[in-house]
Amino acid sequence: MQFGRPEIVIFRRAENVIWPFPGCYRISSPFDPRFHPILRKWKDHEGIDIAAPAGKIVVSISSGIVTHTGWIDGYGKTVIVKDNRHRYLFAHLSSIAVDEGESVSPNKNVGKIDITGRTNGPHLHFGIYDLCRESWIDPMLILQGKRGEVRF
Ligand SMILES: [Zn+2]
Repeated sequence: MQFGRPEIVIFRRAENVIWPFPGCYRISSPFDPRFHPILRKWKDHEGIDIAAPAGKIVVSISSGIVTHTGWIDGYGKTVIVKDNRHRYLFAHLSSIAVDEGESVSPNKNVGKIDITGRTNGPHLHFGIYDLCRESWIDPMLILQGKRGEVRF
């Protein structure tokens, strides 16, 4: 890390790992507890927010089965994809491009981003639930791969 430079973090994505929001790489809110600006209380942030202009395509990062499509309170229009290790949650979508029970492959378009649900700016909320640990994990652990490199 170098000091005295703007706080812009560019994540070096691991090879063979697909980014859920092609073209949009700014993390506006990390996986962390935070003060919710609209609910006005502290709550765990069970995913990452990736900032976006409207109308961007969101893609599945793995093959799997779509287990949910539709509105979830607080998340707005949401898609959940499940493989044998994780559930992947894509929230604040403006439109949904898959059906429940559908098999998806990596890079499959699952929806688009606009402003729905409780958001104060267009962004993708992306969560990864670990089925073995039975908890939400930091999606960056998966997206950055095993080397976990971050380039400043
Ligand atoms: Zn979020």
